[in-house]
Amino acid sequence: MKFEILTLFPDMFESPFAGSILGKAAEKGLIEIEPHNLRDWAEGRHKVTDDTPYGGGDGMVMKPEPVARALAELKQRSPAARVILMTPQGRTFRQPDAQALSREQGLVFVCGRYEGFDERIRCLVNDEYSIGDFVLTGGELAAMVMIDAVARLLPGVLGSSGSAEVDSFSDGLLEFPHYTRPAEFQGHRVPEVLLSGNHAEIARWRRREQLRRTLQRRPDLLERAPLSDEDRRILEE
Ligand code: SAM
Repeated sequence: MKFEILTLFPDMFESPFAGSILGKAAEKGLIEIEPHNLRDWAEGRHKVTDDTPYGGGDGMVMKPEPVARALAELKQRSPAARVILMTPQGRTFRQPDAQALSREQGLVFVCGRYEGFDERIRCLVNDEYSIGDFVLTGGELAAMVMIDAVARLLPGVLGSSGSAEVDSFSDGLLEFPHYTRPAEFQGHRVPEVLLSGNHAEIARWRRREQLRRTLQRRPDLLERAPLSDEDRRILEE
């Protein structure tokens, strides 16, 4: 999948994933990350991309015309790409969004700076996403977060180094706890069932732990998670 980023700071994308699983996925051609400098579509000698706000007030607002020109060109090259505006006012990005976006042919992330974009940018994009209820100085880090979450779901990207299917949120719950050697660490023993070799028992223990953990830490998730009658019985214990 191709990830394109429209930004005033393309250098930030020079090698954010170098050496990591995503860096290797890029080397193998499974993903492509291409930043574009928004200034390339700005007019005039000074390539201005922002201006003062109508109505007064502090801060600068990003002008709509360079973004419109850039998106028109990018869409001509990749008509099927989905255009995503990064904004703290967008829909909160969650794992089901990552799963849905991983089925797209390509994604274009539009990253704001300063006070954000002229409101009329919104009619040029398919989606508006926020990565959480806080405000960053720019959309670049937020776009990187989304690229990471989407790219790791693409076929072949994780390889043998992990399985996205059992990760937290993939089935609506938090994941079960993990243990590795040694069997005892600072007086804490690995749960006996994990040493038993009994795969059915291990699967039952893991499901129980998933439910217990989600109930303790994120009870809000249980309202939306698909639960069996057995799951509900465990939760009521
Ligand atoms: N004035 C805007 C507001 O209050 O809604 C915030 C602008 S913010 C300083 C500049 C840019 O950072 C935004 O246009 C957006 O692209 C990006 N950004 C900031 N926080 C974000 C978040 N939580 N999720 C996604 N993008 C964010």
